[in-house]
Amino acid sequence: MSFDSLGLRAELLAAVSTEGYTIPTPIQSKTIPLILEGRDVLAGAQTGTGKTAAFTLPMLQLLSLSGQGEKGRFPRALVLAPTRELAAQVNESIRTYGRNLRQSSTVVFGGVGIQPQIDALRRGVDILVATPGRLLDHAGQGTVNLSKVEILVLDEADRMLDMGFIHDIKRILKLLPSKRQNLLFSATYNDEVKRLADGLLHNPALVEVARRNTAAENVSQVVHPVGHTRKRELLSHLIREKDWRQALVFTRTKHGANRLATQLVTDGINATAIHGNKSQSARTKALADFKSGAVKILVATDIAARGLDIDSLPHVVNYDLPNVPEDYVHRIGRTGRAGANGIALSLVSSEEKDLLVNIQRLLGRNIPVEEVQGFKFEASSGSAPSTRQPDGRHDHNRPRRPDGFGGNSSRRPFRQGKEAAGRRGEATGRKGR
Ligand code: AMP
Repeated sequence: MSFDSLGLRAELLAAVSTEGYTIPTPIQSKTIPLILEGRDVLAGAQTGTGKTAAFTLPMLQLLSLSGQGEKGRFPRALVLAPTRELAAQVNESIRTYGRNLRQSSTVVFGGVGIQPQIDALRRGVDILVATPGRLLDHAGQGTVNLSKVEILVLDEADRMLDMGFIHDIKRILKLLPSKRQNLLFSATYNDEVKRLADGLLHNPALVEVARRNTAAENVSQVVHPVGHTRKRELLSHLIREKDWRQALVFTRTKHGANRLATQLVTDGINATAIHGNKSQSARTKALADFKSGAVKILVATDIAARGLDIDSLPHVVNYDLPNVPEDYVHRIGRTGRAGANGIALSLVSSEEKDLLVNIQRLLGRNIPVEEVQGFKFEASSGSAPSTRQPDGRHDHNRPRRPDGFGGNSSRRPFRQGKEAAGRRGEATGRKGR
């Protein structure tokens, strides 16, 4: 399958080729022809699958056929995205893919001055990319007119719902003409997404591509058990010992991200944090410094990292496991992109074992566990003793450690919690869902 067979016009094919893409990704080859037909689409695809181009390319084509922008025109396509970073990246993609066409785009999101956005909207745009809150600010002030929207895209709809944007989305929908094409992209499909899709889409074509974690076998995953208090030390050790080029490190909280970045800097490692409490300019700078290689370690919260398009990231570290198992999949999707090999490491303390069990259930398999020399679990936790006997063998009759990790330091699958106690030698865990 080549891009030529998808029905895209020459200007778009030229842009795709300038980007160096030769083969459409599965989401692109399935979705592009459907969108060009004018269908509503419900697409299950995560970041990293090429989903942005999957809706941007046909959207540009449809708009280019249905009119050329006169001055002061109102947006004919609206893309809603959950975060500022994702919105900015979508807008960049629109400009990249649309470089040989005359469709213009702009992006509006909160945390920055509204006046330049008002000016851009007044000049007129064909495509508006927006986060829901700031878009409603514009609507409230009468600085945007959505009455000409022909195509609506909800990008990362599940995340928008997670972030509590449902009411904003409903208010925005009321501002749109009822006759329009609707495209909904979501990494996960739960009841809330289904409800939104049911109320929004007309006879949608359903497109699903394999989840990244099943498709992208080029991401190797490992769990390093470690006492809660020694995580930072272990991370610094790994960065140094393994001579990492760069890593994206996830913490659960903004405060944790700040603290870790500061501690790494104290350890002599060039690190910075990115999260929602930082100003937009600080976030943009942190991302730019990381992309340029000036910063080695970017510490991020899930929401801040959502949709970050960082090419060929070699390491992703779960410093804290996420509360929501799906976030694990999003996180590790930040590495191993476009055929590159990636490593996703999780530093897991005994307090997090239930979270790990849930993640493994979602993955449908166990993540190999590797104890790092010098960071043996017992050393820091002071919790239950190892099941290892003095001769190095395990005592099969003794219950396994209640922390769930077992005491073996070799590479082996993680057991699924308590019920695995005493069972040995099984290679895979329960299939979840
Ligand atoms: P996305 O899922 O939209 O975030 O895209 C993930 C990455 O894949 C981006 O860096 C795109 O530039 C890249 N990409 C998109 N389509 C293709 C393609 N057909 N071939 C190679 N890379 C692609």
